[in-house]
Order: sequence, then structure tokens, then C-alpha cells
Amino acid sequence: MMQRGSGSDRGLSEAFHDFLSGAARLLFYLGLLLGLGSVAFCVYTAMAFSGGAVSAPEAQALSNIELFQKLIISGMLAAGIGAAFLFWGEELLGGIMLIVAGLLYFSPLILTSAAGVQADNKVVQAALGTIQMGGSILGALGILLLVVDIANRIKDRAQQGAKADQLKYGKGVKEEADRQNVFMGKCWQLPFCRKFVRDKCPIYHAKRTCWKEQVGCMCEESVIRGAMEGKLIPKDEVAAAAYIPTNNKLTFEQKRERCKQCVIFNEHQKHKYRALLPTIVLGFAAFYIIFRNMLLAATGGIVSKMSQIVGTLTFSKTNSGEAVSGPFQELLLICLMFILLAYVLKLLEHLIFKLKI
Ligand code: SF4
Ligand code: SF4
Repeated sequence: MMQRGSGSDRGLSEAFHDFLSGAARLLFYLGLLLGLGSVAFCVYTAMAFSGGAVSAPEAQALSNIELFQKLIISGMLAAGIGAAFLFWGEELLGGIMLIVAGLLYFSPLILTSAAGVQADNKVVQAALGTIQMGGSILGALGILLLVVDIANRIKDRAQQGAKADQLKYGKGVKEEADRQNVFMGKCWQLPFCRKFVRDKCPIYHAKRTCWKEQVGCMCEESVIRGAMEGKLIPKDEVAAAAYIPTNNKLTFEQKRERCKQCVIFNEHQKHKYRALLPTIVLGFAAFYIIFRNMLLAATGGIVSKMSQIVGTLTFSKTNSGEAVSGPFQELLLICLMFILLAYVLKLLEHLIFKLKI
């Protein structure tokens, strides 16, 4: 009875998940269609009205752009939310969204420099502004997604380290009941050191670390055999070191590879990650506080320069190198710092849990 109940529960939850996936797919494709269709319309309008080439009523074009502005906002939000559900956990999701957002945001520059569009009237400016706004919305969603994704990864990695399926040695071994967990400790100070082996383990009595010796209780039969046979190991550090076995059948690299797949080394990597994570975040915060004025000036300089280029290319007075407002500059800098921090943390995760340095 119980089993039937849990089976039907599973069936229900699968059906609910299928329903959500279907809804997300619909949102994603519909959003893409609306968003990109509206962007295409705005590009067409900008090109058609460029240089006053079309004599159609301005009011009608502006009202169309207003409608497409709403469609772009809802389209980008729908596509962003749908993509977040469908591709959650994909490494490139946030990055791709930010690249597309960047392309849309800088579309006035691209269109004026590459397609010869002239932003010399209200309609063209409104059309280009609308596309740029779509880029800002998608960019904000991309940053939000990146931050949530990184926060989840940090939580998982700090708790579990590498994924269980990447581990071979000691997989399934439970943490000791009377466990120690000394931060950045040696192998015998970590939760997977089993008491019955430890008491007869030369690495413990020599106060060494197994991954440095490249032999230990999860990978070398002689260490376990010694414990099972009750082999006596001297309590003296120097004398105990002579009992540490050596394995000449494997190369240094092979033994290192073995450690990379071991629960004990994985625990050590988790500690490294926990130590480096706050160091990097605090380093970023300190860098921002110390160099804030310089970074703000650089951000403002880049935005002004781009704006100046657009102004020059379009002969537009409004864009000719005008000063960028302080809050916008600060917000842009904070966004850039967040994006950079997110990718530095992804790199840290890769180095510690994939390359296992
Ligand atoms: S090799 Fe294993 S048993 Fe020996 S001290 Fe290290 S973790 Fe403990
Ligand atoms: S595989 Fe490496 S970390 Fe694991 S017990 Fe052996 S030496 Fe220690």
C-alpha cells in the first residue's frame, strides 16, 4: 500500500514537473518570438526613418514603438524566466544572456557604425532606445541568475565538495561518529579517519598527511591490513615514519590521480575552498573600496567614449560625449564587479574541484 502511495506521489510530482517544463518552454519560445520580433521591428523602424528617408507620420511610428516597448519588456522577461527554468545549472546560461544583453544594449553603436543608421530624429532615437532597454532588462536578469547560481554552487560545494560520482576511493564511507574536523587539518584530523585504522596507522603516529605521502587508508591495502592484523606501530613520530609503506608500482602522477578521487582528499579540498572563498570576496570588496574613484573614473570614461563615438557617427548632439550620471556610473561599476566576481568564483570552483590543485 505504502509503495503504491509513494509511486503515485512520484507520478504526480513527475507530471507536475512535466507541466512546469512545458510552461517554461512555452514562455521561453513565446518570449523569444515577442522579444526578438519587436527588436526586429524597432531595427526596421530605425533604418526606415534614418535620415528622414520615410515620410510616414511620426506619431504613428512613435505609438507603434510604445507598443513594441511593452512587448520587448514582457518578451525578455518571459524568455529569461523560461531559459532559467529550462537550462538551470548550465555553466554558460548567465554568460550567454549577458552577451545577448550586451549586443542589444550596444545596438545603437552597432547600427549607427555598421549599418549607417542616423539617429537624427525622434523616431530613430526612440526605436534604438527601446532595443537598448530590452538589453538592460535581459542584462539585469542575467546578473540575477548568475548571482543565484553562484550562491547555490557555493552552498553545494562548501557542504559536499566534489560530486559523489567523481569519487572512487572511500565512496560510501560514513563520517566517524566521534569525528574531528579541524579546519585545514591533516588527514587524521578530518571526519573520514576511522578510529580502528587510525590507532594502527603509521601516518597518524608519524603526524604526517596521507595525500603528501601518497599512501593512505583508502588506497593502500597494507595500511588496512596492518590495522586488521593489529600491527604495533611505535608512538614516536620518527620511528613511526619508518613504517609508512611505499608504493613503487605507481608513478607520482598515478598516485596523485588516486588522491583526486578520494573522499579524504575531497574533504581537504572543501576546506581549501572554504578558506579561499571569503578571502576572494573580501579581496574584491577591499579592491572596490580602495580603488573606487579610479574605477568610477574608468567606467565613466568608457561610457562617455562610447557615447561620443555614437554621437560622432550619428552627428547627434545628444550623444556627443555627455557626462554620465553618478548613480548610473556606480550601478554599472557594481554590476561589472559582480559579473567579474561571479566568474572568478567559477574559476575557483573549477581549480579546486575539477583540477584539484
Ligand atoms: S591514512 Fe587514514 S587512518 Fe591513517 S591517519 Fe590518515 S586518514 Fe587516518
Ligand atoms: S587516495 Fe590519497 S587521500 Fe585517499 S587515502 Fe590514499 S593517499 Fe590519502
